[in-house]
Amino acid sequence: MSCKICKGCGEQKVLGDFYRHPQMRDGYLNYCKECKKAEIKANRTLKKEHYAEYERQRNQTEKRKDFLYSNLKRWRQKYPEKLAVQLARRRTRKFLAEGDFTVEEFRVLCGEYGNVCLRCGQTDVSLTPDHVIPLSLGGGNGIGNIQPLCVKCDCWKNIKTVDYRTAI
Ligand SMILES: [Zn+2]
Ligand SMILES: [Zn+2]
Repeated sequence: MSCKICKGCGEQKVLGDFYRHPQMRDGYLNYCKECKKAEIKANRTLKKEHYAEYERQRNQTEKRKDFLYSNLKRWRQKYPEKLAVQLARRRTRKFLAEGDFTVEEFRVLCGEYGNVCLRCGQTDVSLTPDHVIPLSLGGGNGIGNIQPLCVKCDCWKNIKTVDYRTAI
């Protein structure tokens, strides 16, 4: 016998189209290679979906949520500048503004101004990149439109266009 009917697709195929299996009477699986491959692939997708669902469920539990949130909080505390750059990018997209600056560029800028808040002159505060011309008023997100302010002064300035860089 050199042919065999596949139990999956029902086609008659030569034995070479079946995987060998020592426990089968004729030494070959009852499903052809193609059907077997399709089955393995389907199982894999199913497993992937199961896993994704499992992750989703897991992330729903309060403990897990707390964990993820505290991770995020820790990251924000550890890298406030990175967060500020991210937020600025998000706002840039929101206002369809142009330009981009990096954490590195902002650090250099802060250094150039002596790492002080340009409004209140405090040094022991964490500085945040403020848009001289607010994005909402057509300002860009390039480093040329950025000045370091402390969080308090940044809130105070809000959406006014005030260039503190000239005062230094
Ligand atoms: Zn088949
Ligand atoms: Zn300040």
